[in-house]
Amino acid sequence: MIPESFVQELLARIDIVDVVERYVPLRKAGANYSACCPFHSEKTPSFTVSPSKQFYHCFGCGAHGSAIGFLMQHAGIGFIEAIEELASSAGLQVPHEERNRAERAKKAPLTEVMARAMHFYREQLKATPKAVDYLKNRGLTGEIAAKFALGYAPDGWQGLQQVFPDYNDPALVECGLVIVNEQGRRYDRFRDRVMFPILDQRGNVIGFGGRVIGQGEPKYLNSPETPLFEKGRDL
Ligand SMILES: [Zn+2]
Repeated sequence: MIPESFVQELLARIDIVDVVERYVPLRKAGANYSACCPFHSEKTPSFTVSPSKQFYHCFGCGAHGSAIGFLMQHAGIGFIEAIEELASSAGLQVPHEERNRAERAKKAPLTEVMARAMHFYREQLKATPKAVDYLKNRGLTGEIAAKFALGYAPDGWQGLQQVFPDYNDPALVECGLVIVNEQGRRYDRFRDRVMFPILDQRGNVIGFGGRVIGQGEPKYLNSPETPLFEKGRDL
């Protein structure tokens, strides 16, 4: 968990104009900056960035938020990842609150969630000829796919709803399987990807790596850091 005080400190230290400008060329327009919106297609600029209020707003599509929200929306990453990236660009170290015993005890259901997701992805692979063909073309047999529990995350925004009827369950977000955007909408992190489960020493699924089948970015997408999965320790 990242303390809220750190989020506030980070927002105070960075300038949203600098952050947006890394991705979108901005033009000064009075007190604000403007550009053609990166989130919808347009010919005349309706996207503005306010240095005094430290937010962006699009009068065309309604996109709106802080520097953190911009990075999440523009790079398609989660809240914690956006914080990490902004902190490193500002030279700040992200403090992670000590996990107490209650939080550690919550780990068990999370591994169940991950196991259920893995089974779902495996079933989806069997039912998706283009994903099977992709693996075959890379020299991976059905035997290998079974041995490593390879799977396929279907194309679509909420594929996991098929196995998690309670799609709003916070555990899905905590596991890094579902992303919540600034508008509160939830969607699957992994879509139209071949899925490689990452296991711990006891054989629990603690994360996934997903590779796009066709064109698309990023080519490889890994689970974010979660209570189950700490990249520095587990990879
Ligand atoms: Zn827009």
